[in-house]
Amino acid sequence: DKPTILVTGGAGYIGSHAVLALRDAGWPVVVVDNLTTGFRFAVPDDVTLVEADIADQPVIEAALREHKVAGILHFAGSIIVPESVENPLKYYHNNTAKSRSLIESAVRCGVKHFIFSSTAATYGVPEVSPVREDSPKLPINPYGMSKLMTEIMLTDVAAAHPINFCALRYFNVAGADPQTRTGQSTAGATHLIKVAVEAALGKRSHVSIFGTDFDTPDGTGVRDYIHVSDLAAAHVLALEALMADPDRNHILNCGYGRGFSVAEVLDAVDRVTNEKIDRRVEGRRAGDPPSLISDNREILARFPWKPAYADLDVIVDHALAWERKLTELRPA
Ligand code: UDP
Repeated sequence: DKPTILVTGGAGYIGSHAVLALRDAGWPVVVVDNLTTGFRFAVPDDVTLVEADIADQPVIEAALREHKVAGILHFAGSIIVPESVENPLKYYHNNTAKSRSLIESAVRCGVKHFIFSSTAATYGVPEVSPVREDSPKLPINPYGMSKLMTEIMLTDVAAAHPINFCALRYFNVAGADPQTRTGQSTAGATHLIKVAVEAALGKRSHVSIFGTDFDTPDGTGVRDYIHVSDLAAAHVLALEALMADPDRNHILNCGYGRGFSVAEVLDAVDRVTNEKIDRRVEGRRAGDPPSLISDNREILARFPWKPAYADLDVIVDHALAWERKLTELRPA
């Protein structure tokens, strides 16, 4: 019988997909979420939701002990880059200090495995693309730094205590559960595919293109868009790898190793919807690297990861299906 896994941020976008992936694979799951940015409707009815902050040690440690939790998937955190520039202390609090507290609870309660949501933002502006895990980590914003600091804590803690960890550095996460059970539900989200499907459904008047003068094939920014369900599947494999070899830790890029430009993404949305969304060229956003593509050879070598939804039109189609469902759940 599989032991229980605790998922922080399980009511959020990526966390709710991971909950489904774990549950579909037969793992008992407990979610911890304070619902500041998560949604109760994103947690399946048969999954226990502990409505608490990850830094509330008495509550967290009671849950870890009661459910004999073997592993933690830690998604909870703040994720808006410009906000992290305006309010760095919020990011060092939510992402770094509260992770420290959670890791301490994990060590105290004998949790053996820890999986952490890290980010390609730990690299800053990579000199070499596709970017490898051992490339310099020079974050250009507090968000990336707050995540890098937690990776470093985990490395030190795993060396000192009987716990191992996997940090997955996500590239551009997009799409939604193929069965439309969950998806990106945040109002006012800024991510390109989310914004574009909102525009396609008439929830926005247009899509801004932030820069057409980058050193890329068509001048617009290039990103490695990864389907959230493939990302969720990687977490289940990471858990299995940590259990199979307790002496090994993993810090791995999670992307497909290919990129699409902003123009190509908008073309895909037009193709999938058979419409033409209004595009407006604007200036570059502060701190946007021209291109961010993963070198994913390491994760492919270590885990039996078989991405199923790398097709850009499939990612857009699933994002669109969820956006429609969201309209029914939350009429304007
Ligand atoms: N982008 C854009 N218009 C938007 C949102 C994003 O042109 O409304 C561009 C952005 O400049 C970047 C890419 O799309 O080149 C992906 O941005 P996103 O905010 O989705 O993710 P990021 O790479 O910043 O984490």
